[in-house]
Amino acid sequence: MKVVISNVQRFCLKDGPGIRTTVFFKGCNLRCPWCCNPENIKFDIENYEYKEEKGVYGYEISLDDLEKEILKDKEYYENDGGVTFSGGECLLQFNKIEPLLINLKEKGINICVETALTVPTETVDIAMKYVDEFIVDIKILDEKSEHKVNGNVTLYKENVKKLFDNNSKVIFRIPLVPEYTMTKENMKEIIKFLEQYKAEKVEIFKIHRLGEKKYKTLGKEMQEFLEVSNNEIEEMIGKIEDLGIKAEYCNI
Ligand code: SF4
Repeated sequence: MKVVISNVQRFCLKDGPGIRTTVFFKGCNLRCPWCCNPENIKFDIENYEYKEEKGVYGYEISLDDLEKEILKDKEYYENDGGVTFSGGECLLQFNKIEPLLINLKEKGINICVETALTVPTETVDIAMKYVDEFIVDIKILDEKSEHKVNGNVTLYKENVKKLFDNNSKVIFRIPLVPEYTMTKENMKEIIKFLEQYKAEKVEIFKIHRLGEKKYKTLGKEMQEFLEVSNNEIEEMIGKIEDLGIKAEYCNI
């Protein structure tokens, strides 16, 4: 079995506990206009030419070779570290990579995922068997606006419920995006949602433009967004902490 990934990044400190090796899968079913990994939206390998530069996003790798890549960093996985599957939407690949997940679990490797959780529920069932920590985005919970990211609020909520019913470890991550996640209605929905699902921690972050050049290589322009003020960040942290949940601003 082969999968298409764009990168294996080593020594990551923000993708879960300890030192992590992060695997970026290609392919996502959402379309967040602020996405900083636009090269991971399409599932297929993409060649590009931009000015004088030629390149390729993605490569095929067998599950055996991917396991070898991950295990190269095994000595760094002590003290909580491990592998983090990211993307794109890594959970969309979980039916394919189950043999790899079984092997990693047998070797005692800690597994985290970064997910938007708008995926078939059967996929979440597979993930719950192997994943130690779910880092789950909260983006748009206001159903009237789910189209802005090609989301599906009903499916997302069903999956979050599944994780909490299973007592899975969940950390929520909220991108602060004016006119998208930060509308009055959506903020209200987010607070209501956090009241119901008290995750261990909520991380909030501002979006950045580090992916801008990658958009250009793909023949696209990255959308402009309004700035988020420190007051808005502090206000959000305060509202979450009022619920008794640890909230942190992260510079992701
Ligand atoms: S869910 Fe993540 S990878 Fe997918 S489009 Fe949104 S930001 Fe990008």
